[in-house]
Amino acid sequence: MADAVVIGGGIAGLAAAHLLLTHGHQVTLLERGPQLGGLLAGHTDPTTGNGFDWGTHLFRETGVPVLDEFFLSTPLPGGMLVWKKGMGNQAGAIYGGRLSLDSPFADVRCAPWAETANTELRQFWAGGEAPAPASHDQPLSSVALARFGPTLLRALLLPCLERWFACPPDQLAWFAAELTGLARVVVPDSANWLTHQHNPRFRAAVAIPQQTQLPAQFRPELRDFYPRQGGTGAFVKALASQLASRGAKLLTGVKCIELLEPGQLRWSASGGPMRSVNAEVCVFSGGVVSALNFLGLPFASYGFGAPARHAVVHLRLSEALAPSAPYVMGFDGPLFRCTHYAGMTGQPDERLTIEVLGHAELLGQALAQVVWRELCGAGVVPVGVELTNFSVHELRPGFPVPSLINLQALRAAAQDVKRRAPWVGFCGLGFGHEAFFQNDVLMHVNRVVEEMV
Ligand SMILES: Cc1cc2nc3c(=O)[nH]c(=O)nc-3n(C[C@H](O)[C@H](O)[C@H](O)COP(=O)(O)OP(=O)(O)OC[C@H]3O[C@@H](n4cnc5c(N)ncnc54)[C@H](O)[C@@H]3O)c2cc1C
Repeated sequence: MADAVVIGGGIAGLAAAHLLLTHGHQVTLLERGPQLGGLLAGHTDPTTGNGFDWGTHLFRETGVPVLDEFFLSTPLPGGMLVWKKGMGNQAGAIYGGRLSLDSPFADVRCAPWAETANTELRQFWAGGEAPAPASHDQPLSSVALARFGPTLLRALLLPCLERWFACPPDQLAWFAAELTGLARVVVPDSANWLTHQHNPRFRAAVAIPQQTQLPAQFRPELRDFYPRQGGTGAFVKALASQLASRGAKLLTGVKCIELLEPGQLRWSASGGPMRSVNAEVCVFSGGVVSALNFLGLPFASYGFGAPARHAVVHLRLSEALAPSAPYVMGFDGPLFRCTHYAGMTGQPDERLTIEVLGHAELLGQALAQVVWRELCGAGVVPVGVELTNFSVHELRPGFPVPSLINLQALRAAAQDVKRRAPWVGFCGLGFGHEAFFQNDVLMHVNRVVEEMV
């Protein structure tokens, strides 16, 4: 009898394994891919040997001590860069061809309609009490209209989101705004942030242009961190070797996993013989879409549209960039987030990783050129620095476009999955209360494991 089995070796599965070990279980973790880490496994460019992340990633404490201690006390070659509470690494945003430093939100103050949008927004924050929290699957247009007014909705949110997700605007859910950083915006009155700081409506919709000047009481309580060497891949490797040293069996390349009956699983690793195992505790951490496949539930019957096509562009520059350079969100063309490794590790670095979210219609060289031109045009890359090497990768399709239909389908699928195998603790993307971002996923993993042990 295996004591506890965790299916899925992403950060959620590694966290579940740690929690189960802490509760005294013997843990076997089964990962179908060739390596652990899931979205955080990272990538080594075969031509240059450079290591890159699979997209932008900054770690943040979860507020769950048993997890935060595991993440921050795991020894790493080169150590971990931990920022002061709420200070993150520097962030910037490109909107209207301009780079605004110190805030990753769209800064619309130079747009011709900025004053009108600002006047409409004032009506929202004059409303007084805290706004009701909007859930991910509410319609974008009604939430955004009540919050921002018609001008920001029509001039910024709808055209951008429609372009990025190739989805008619009336079909988008509010999650589209949260996912892309458009839930808050820098408007002319942002300069009065200190005056309005106590108004929850103002804080919900308006972003401060100088994030690092945020008054201490409004900074997140939790610290951000990132490995100084080797990126997210090095971090998950270090977590895995910690777990292995405490007796966890971590198996990769598991070809087939099948549920036979409550508590019993069938699997084979690396083409070896089929094995079956009884598990007292079983946690599945692969997220809703993988859970449907795992249980043989028909994905097609939930009415999901085509998944979003995310892409990642890795660039190597002719000169190392300075650590003072920012992590950048780009709002003008394809939506992108640019990981600036120098800013993330605190050491000069020639690498950039640009994660293009949404439909990524352009791929290959054309996509690399578009983002490179935008970064150079806005001054993220200093004049004279050249591109020496690039590669473009389409990410494995997974998370659906943030449309109303898809989010409702996700919720229905999550419920069916849990009903079908109530003895399994399901977690990962899409389970729990709107768990998508890593911290929500991890806090949900903690709740699931607590309920099971
Ligand atoms: C494009 C994109 C960008 C993101 N950016 C951010 C961000 O900036 N900040 C943030 O906080 N969050 C971000 N997220 C979300 C964050 O990456 C995830 O919340 C987190 O990495 C999820 O970890 P996970 O372990 O749940 O899933 P994954 O990393 O996907 O791991 C799941 C693992 O389970 C394995 N698996 C699945 N099914 C099976 C099976 N049947 N048998 C065996 N193994 C299986 C998979 O192979 C995979 O390794 C982003 C997500 C995406 C898609």
